[in-house]
Amino acid sequence: MNKIKITFVIVLASLFTFVYYVYRLNQHIVVFCDVGQGAATLFQIGTMQVLVDAGPDGRVLSCLGKYMPYFDTTIEVVIISHDQKDHCGGLLSILNKYSVQKIFGPPLSKKAYRMTQYIEIHDQLVFSYASYVFKIKKSSQSSDKNESANIVSIFSPSNTYFISSDISALELYRLMPPETTVLEVPHHGSKYGLSPLSLSLAHPALAVISVGKYNVYGHPSNEALAVLKAKKIPFLRTDTQGDIVLPL
Ligand SMILES: [Zn+2]
Repeated sequence: MNKIKITFVIVLASLFTFVYYVYRLNQHIVVFCDVGQGAATLFQIGTMQVLVDAGPDGRVLSCLGKYMPYFDTTIEVVIISHDQKDHCGGLLSILNKYSVQKIFGPPLSKKAYRMTQYIEIHDQLVFSYASYVFKIKKSSQSSDKNESANIVSIFSPSNTYFISSDISALELYRLMPPETTVLEVPHHGSKYGLSPLSLSLAHPALAVISVGKYNVYGHPSNEALAVLKAKKIPFLRTDTQGDIVLPL
């Protein structure tokens, strides 16, 4: 190959790489990370990230590394739904690798998590980035961690996402915005998280189940899957499909 051809190939490759990274920088996506039995959902608006829950352990890092721009070492917001390992166990791994600007969550039992950027949610909190509105709400004042989990509604120009953590079917009925288009199924598909009543006010176009392969709880339950099938709501599962990536 002569010099001109080699130069042409190098220029073409550089151009392709540049276009690819510009494309990645402008991506607005949501990723339901495959973290095994647990939940971690990444909302990425260009170089801005909001992560809802951190999964059970360091597995969340491989998901973040795969979808965040390679030079981006800052996560703007982490939201922890409740103080249980399958939702917050990966937080320390995240803090070791990334600079996290704000953490919103429940009062946590582990002292290690308490840090200056940690803000406890006692009722609700709303913030926005570009044209996306994030609404965090403590689902109830119950002493039960699942029943009082922080749930998150995300309103984008074209869709509404509802991240339901481990709340019950009754709480889902009470709290899910009627315009929800994508529902993260409560409690990894537990039979207590979905009922025909819970989906009587809203009819999501898609449901996503964050659940681990061969988990000891038998999630997702046949009962929850039967509700989705009866309501004709298509669903995706992280245990069988891995990371689930959707446009925001
Ligand atoms: Zn859970």
